[in-house]
Order: sequence, then structure tokens, then C-alpha cells
Amino acid sequence: MRKKQINTRTTSFLGKPIDKNKNYIIIGAGIAGLLCGFYLKKAGISFRIIEKTNRAGGVLGTQTKPYGIAEQAANGFLWTAALQEICDDLNLEIITPKAAAKARYFVRRKKLRQYPFSVWETFGIVRRMLKPHRAPIHTLEDFGQAYFGDTFTRQLLEPAMGGIYAAPLEAMSFPAILGELARHIEAHPFLPKALRKWRKERTKNNSPKPKTASGTHSFAGGMQTLIDALAQHLKDHIQYNTEATKKDIQNTENQYIITSPAHITKYFFDGKINNLLAQIQYTPIISISLFFHKKDLARFKEGFGCLIPRNEGLTILGVLFNSCIFEQRVSDESVMSLTCIMRDDSPNLSLIHAADIDVKNLVVSELDALFDIQGELLDYAIFRWKEGIPVYSPQLHEVLFEIDEILQEKYPHINLFGNYTGAISIRQMSETIHKLINPTVLF
Ligand SMILES: Cc1cc2nc3c(=O)[nH]c(=O)nc-3n(C[C@H](O)[C@H](O)[C@H](O)COP(=O)(O)OP(=O)(O)OC[C@H]3O[C@@H](n4cnc5c(N)ncnc54)[C@H](O)[C@@H]3O)c2cc1C
Repeated sequence: MRKKQINTRTTSFLGKPIDKNKNYIIIGAGIAGLLCGFYLKKAGISFRIIEKTNRAGGVLGTQTKPYGIAEQAANGFLWTAALQEICDDLNLEIITPKAAAKARYFVRRKKLRQYPFSVWETFGIVRRMLKPHRAPIHTLEDFGQAYFGDTFTRQLLEPAMGGIYAAPLEAMSFPAILGELARHIEAHPFLPKALRKWRKERTKNNSPKPKTASGTHSFAGGMQTLIDALAQHLKDHIQYNTEATKKDIQNTENQYIITSPAHITKYFFDGKINNLLAQIQYTPIISISLFFHKKDLARFKEGFGCLIPRNEGLTILGVLFNSCIFEQRVSDESVMSLTCIMRDDSPNLSLIHAADIDVKNLVVSELDALFDIQGELLDYAIFRWKEGIPVYSPQLHEVLFEIDEILQEKYPHINLFGNYTGAISIRQMSETIHKLINPTVLF
């Protein structure tokens, strides 16, 4: 087994590298499976996708409601050249955020603030940052407390990282999430130096490919547009309503890429890999999109959205101001659409199992505390994900190394790829696959 030190993985694709002479079978037509299919097709490699349900997209999808659209999961993706290439090939227009989406807020004492600290607090944070720190840093909580102190950790780091990874800071692995920075901090415990080295290395690695855009992007019809275009492009390769099982991955003549979530993928294996996959935890998530008349939110401010620290005592982790971010999110300009993300930490999943009306009432009362709602809610759509987002814990970080080693040694005909294998977002997944199925690195 590998040494337990700050270990960072170079790829989020577990198992042997892609071999262009193999016949691939991709299990799952979520975004992970579709991205694999897209690049295998582009590289001229033989493949087929098996999908359990009658639709592609997995958790991603967009519902059309009378007052606008509601996303089931991701509302957009962080721009990357890899996704731009896919969209160019598919003739898909990516939409950029509106100018009004520039402002991002943190909630402090139920008020929206762009910068949540006082001058005195800022001074304390900077002073802390300049102290070298030598104790081991395992979690993002350790990182925040060591280099920034409690105020920064609670008010900024926790809501910002919780907004992406949907877990408490103490549950999030520093090397799994900020691997390159973790490596530099291990070598240079003085944070400004580590940050300088990190930035320098990133610039070197990114050149000569200049970035041409940044930030969150989407499509006029929502994320379903991307799914539909990929599904159409791969239509001759996708077999719907077919559930792959352990028996189906025995033929070592084929190469299998399993893209189902860890809690399903474990059933493809016995023994050690089954045990390791079973240890991967998922955070139960609820996403609720709500439509209001714009004029009815008295204290609303235009912007991208707001992140809410846990110490505000609210259930909502963050609110995306959909109709301020992108065009064509609402039926007309007098309407506004908000999406609230919540995590269910209760042992009996009371929020996941609550009636729609109770979830709606809870969310509306919390939004009222933030925005002072003066009129009636027009409509809403709730999406519940019992296994929503994998927890990027220190344990997951170790588990991935072990699974990778076992696959390479004992199951060379199997790869695992999905949002739990190291790339949680659509951007990271597309970058991973783009790098992997690049003609210059193929066997
Ligand atoms: C509420 C929420 C908000 C999010 N927001 C963002 C965001 O803003 N930006 C971002 O980048 N990401 C976001 N994400 C994360 C992102 O949406 C997911 O990580 C990603 O869509 C997961 O894709 P996947 O293909 O790995 O898994 P899935 O979507 O779960 O797809 C797996 C597929 O495998 C199929 N399958 C399962 N078992 C079998 C079997 N035995 N045989 C055949 N098929 C099988 C399933 O039916 C499914 O289609 C969000 C996630 C959630 C839940």
C-alpha cells in the first residue's frame, strides 16, 4: 500500500489508462458516461453505453414550469476549454452570465454582504495568514483554522466550500479537494509562499492554452440542452432500459467503464473493492426552485447568489439567483427564480422524507428572513437526492488510492469514473476525460 502522506492523484479515472484497441462498455449514461462516450467516439474507439433508465443525464435535467425552468441538479458548469470543445463539436451555444450576476453575497446576521468581515476581523485574518503552520492538515477545517482563524473559517470558507461539496468542513479532505495547494503547503508552511508556488505551477501547466472564459455558464434551455445534444450525438451507441450487473462485467475481452455512483457500483464487486466503495458516504441534498414576482422581494439584491454560514441558524446552504444569472430562466421579466440548496444532516432524513408543502413552507420562511417577502409564491419544484453528492472526506481520499491499485492489479479490464472518483463537478469530469482520451496519450 502507498504511504499515508499528502498524496495527490494525477487522474480521477480509476484503473488502467484508455487503450484504443479495446472494445469499451460504459455503464451509465449520466454526464460521466456521456463524456466518456463523446471522447471515445472522437478518438474512433469502439464503445457502447448501457443505461438502466429510459433517459440519459442521470441526476442532471431541466423541468419546464409555467413560470420558467427548474434544474434538477447543476444549474450550470464552470467554463473549461474541454466543455467548449464538446459544445463546438455539437454546435451548442453556451450562454454566459448576465452583468447583474457579478455580485456574490455572504449572509451575515440575515443580511446580504459582499465582504462579510469588519476591518478589525480582516486585520486578524491577515495576521494569522502570515504565520507558518507546521502541524499536519487533514481537513478543510484544519486548513481554515490554521491559516485564517475561526471567523474566516465559519463565515467564508465553510459556506463557500459547503456550497460545492455540500459537507461540513471537518468532513472534507484538504488533499482530496485542494491537492496541489496541499502539496505546496507541505513543502512551504508559509502560506503566501505556498500560494505563489501553486499559482506559478498552474500558470506553467496551463500554457500554452490560454483561458478564454471563466465562471459559471449554461445553455438557453438549461442543462437538459447539453444532455439532449450528447444523447443525440451518441444515439447509435446507447442502449436504454438495460441494467448492468456483476455478471455483465466478467468478459475480460471487453473493457468496462462503470460510471454509476459508488453506492451502486459496489454491487459489481465482491470482497475488498465492495468494502471500500461501501465506505463512500453521500450527502442527502434537496434542491428547490421557487418563482416569485420580482416586486414581492423587498430586500432582494441583484447578483449571482448568496452563501449562508451554518451559524446563521438556517437550513438553506445557499441561494442561486437564477433569473439574475442567465437569460431565459423565467417566463417574463416581472418574475424571478431562485434555487435553494439544502443538506439533510438528520439521522432519520426528516427533510428528505418531509412533505413538499412542509419543505416549501420552511424555505419560504427562511427566504422571508433574508428578503422580506411581500406577496405569494407563484410556483416551486423540489428535487430530492438521498445520495446527492459524495463526501470528499479524508477516508475517501485514501479509499480511491486503494481501489485504483486493486483495479490495476486484479481487474485490469475495469475502470471506475464518476463524481466520487476525484472529479466532483462537470468541469472536472470533462477535463479528466479530455486529458485521458487525447490521441497523444493513447496506447
Ligand atoms: C443538487 C445538485 C446540484 C449540483 N450542482 C452542480 C453544479 O452547479 N455544477 C456542477 O458541476 N455539478 C453540480 N452537481 C454535481 C453534478 O451534477 C453531478 O456530480 C453529476 O451530474 C453526476 O454525474 P454522474 O454521471 O457521475 O452520475 P449520475 O448522474 O448519477 O449518473 C449515473 C447514471 O448511471 C445509471 N446507472 C446506475 N446504475 C446502473 C446500472 N447498473 N446499469 C446501467 N446504468 C446504471 C443511472 O441511471 C444514471 O443515469 C450538483 C449535484 C446535485 C445533486
